[in-house]
Amino acid sequence: MISPNMHYADLKDSYLFYRIAQKTGAYLREHPGAYLYRMGIGDVTLPLCPAVIAALHRAVDDQADAAGFHGYMPECGAPFLREAIAEHYRKRGIALADDEVFVSSGASDELGDILDLFDRRSSALVMEPAYPAYVDANVMAGRTVIRLPSDESEGFLPEPREEAKADLIYICSPNNPTGAVFSREQLTRWVDFANANGSVILFDAAYEAFIEDDALPRSIFEIGGAETCAIEICSLSKTAGFTGTRLGYTVIPKALKRRGMSFNDMWVRNRTTKTNGVSYIIQKGGAAVFTEEGQEQIRANSRIYKNNAGFLTEALDGLGIRYFGGRNSPYIWMKCPGGMGSWDFFDLLLREIQVVGTPGEGFGACGEGFFRFSTFGSPEDTAEAARRMTSLLAGMP
Ligand code: PLP
Repeated sequence: MISPNMHYADLKDSYLFYRIAQKTGAYLREHPGAYLYRMGIGDVTLPLCPAVIAALHRAVDDQADAAGFHGYMPECGAPFLREAIAEHYRKRGIALADDEVFVSSGASDELGDILDLFDRRSSALVMEPAYPAYVDANVMAGRTVIRLPSDESEGFLPEPREEAKADLIYICSPNNPTGAVFSREQLTRWVDFANANGSVILFDAAYEAFIEDDALPRSIFEIGGAETCAIEICSLSKTAGFTGTRLGYTVIPKALKRRGMSFNDMWVRNRTTKTNGVSYIIQKGGAAVFTEEGQEQIRANSRIYKNNAGFLTEALDGLGIRYFGGRNSPYIWMKCPGGMGSWDFFDLLLREIQVVGTPGEGFGACGEGFFRFSTFGSPEDTAEAARRMTSLLAGMP
């Protein structure tokens, strides 16, 4: 009889969003017709920008005509898109060759698939609070997960230290859920640490487009030495509203080698075996993001989300509540008032003001006592949620 991958039995139930859905469902059953202000979602709400929509339409027309038709696409990405992405990096002073960029269907897919490149006996460091997929993808593969908890005393930006030694090091900056962003100096310390120990950093840059402070690095490859220790995984999901359209990219420098093996060569081998490339139509839409027009339009969308962040941070500032993120990030990570637990705070907001956020405990034990707001909702809902929070919490100790 075939044996299943028994590591699946080691997975903890992913109960966070399930439990939130249970609680909001119960509330709505008790209060039929109630309107909920959903500030918990990590999904975007604005439509794709006009430059992308026009490119998608043109690509559909190409497929209708024998002369313009495209069948299978190159497994590692269409040359036009690999070049557009590499050029986007080069404009920011990062020297990348087109074939160091791989087109993907999104960061989630890559975060799981990329683990094929590493020995199953290797260990993975996850800095918590963390995006839950890092831990689960490694547990499924039977890897040892080393959790590095962080807290407000270090701004949720942990420093490398002895107990952080691991083969794989996940870094998410700007971070989901805390919104914290590593400085150039801090990232340099992680890059030096990884190079000194022979580790590989998996740098999740899904929220890089929200960085507005030029002093903060948007790519690990802004840091000298990263080309010998890092892979960057990025996505157009939050940058350009592609959550449902699906497109991302991964950068694997040719200088990244261990035991004489090139991870770039290995990933070419992997992709040519395990994928048949991303849809021509979607890649054409993605290429439009990197045009001048596309960049202007996605920045306009980001400004709307940033403005949403302003509604919430103003409310928290007025209330004197400590928070992280909100600037350079679409997430706000607030301290629950009065020392409340994160699920108690969730219940309070739902019951009293019909605002839904995400309890910090769902991102790792050290997230307890904190609460995440997303700024991807509508401006009207976000402004109203902020008003309601102010009137509810103003009187609290
Ligand atoms: N990485 C982080 C930190 C995320 O928060 C998300 C989605 O919320 C992803 C990756 C997944 O992105 P994608 O939509 O490209 O799969």
